[in-house]
Amino acid sequence: MRLAGTQTAMRRVWTVELHPRAGGPRLFCIQCQAHTPPVDGPSARSAALTHLASHARTEALPAHLRTCQCHALGCSWHSRSRGCGGPVLLALTRQTGGRSWRLADTCAACAAATGGTAVVPETLLGARRPKPSGDILRRARHGLPPGSDERARVREMLTYLSAALPQFTSPAARLLALQCALRADTLGHVTVADGLLRTMRLRGRRELWLELAQAGWLETARSRPGPVTVRLLDATVLDQAPGRGARRRAAHWALHPTPLALSAAAPAALRLTALVLASHPFNTEDLDAVSRLCGHSPQQTVELLDRLVSARALVSWHQRQDTGEVLWQFPQQPSHCSADQDR
Ligand SMILES: [Zn+2]
Ligand SMILES: [Zn+2]
Ligand SMILES: [Zn+2]
Repeated sequence: MRLAGTQTAMRRVWTVELHPRAGGPRLFCIQCQAHTPPVDGPSARSAALTHLASHARTEALPAHLRTCQCHALGCSWHSRSRGCGGPVLLALTRQTGGRSWRLADTCAACAAATGGTAVVPETLLGARRPKPSGDILRRARHGLPPGSDERARVREMLTYLSAALPQFTSPAARLLALQCALRADTLGHVTVADGLLRTMRLRGRRELWLELAQAGWLETARSRPGPVTVRLLDATVLDQAPGRGARRRAAHWALHPTPLALSAAAPAALRLTALVLASHPFNTEDLDAVSRLCGHSPQQTVELLDRLVSARALVSWHQRQDTGEVLWQFPQQPSHCSADQDR
């Protein structure tokens, strides 16, 4: 873990503030010393993230030179502190009740300890790099099981959505947003087929599309019964590095996240929690991080974990008192899973 010291010239902290203005609120970037065009309230979050992400992208720094900016500022961003630790990540923090947003290089330990903070997956920022075809080779070399890429992609997207969507977005809307983000074309258009909505048990749930539209995350092009066509308004999602094929495979995996066997008829909150757990390869994660991905409070998450045990989707789970980490155990993995009617 590198500490700051010589890195003062390489500060990687960017902040935007939401300023009320006559023609509607505008974002003011501290670094650019400039206002953006007016944003409507609900879309401020994704507009802020899009602008901040553009700084992180253009001011890219090799990984070995990146340091924890929280540490550099005396760890004043959080209260409890066990010291810096883990990789340096890009953390998005909502400050002053949503009136300002900060994106900063932060170590995993500081990011986890800071309130209102979500980690933004770097693959969403580092786009436009040609994707090397060595992906399959790399997987073979490291002996990762098939499906690892899909899990990683879903985990990244859930992490991203935990930053991009309002905190109280419903679990069902999050499940829809995940499918849209993974299936969108490069212009952000996606048609969600009737069969897919039926598979997800979310057919005819127009209020969910409205919820995402009100969050300023997408706009619906048609609202007749049948397939739903939407356009994503979140520019960051359009910049995804992995190609459509890889994203589609991840979207498909998210419908049947092995090794979890949970009925599609289960409540969306339970299905989202199950998906979050299945997307973690080592069956462990910080409770706060799981809660953020699910859009719940830690108390609700604990309750949902208990319900997953009752539903036999998990054998057991427990929380380590010293680290706050949650560990869980899946039932014996089935040898193969059935195909879905994903069309
Ligand atoms: Zn700026
Ligand atoms: Zn810190
Ligand atoms: Zn740190």
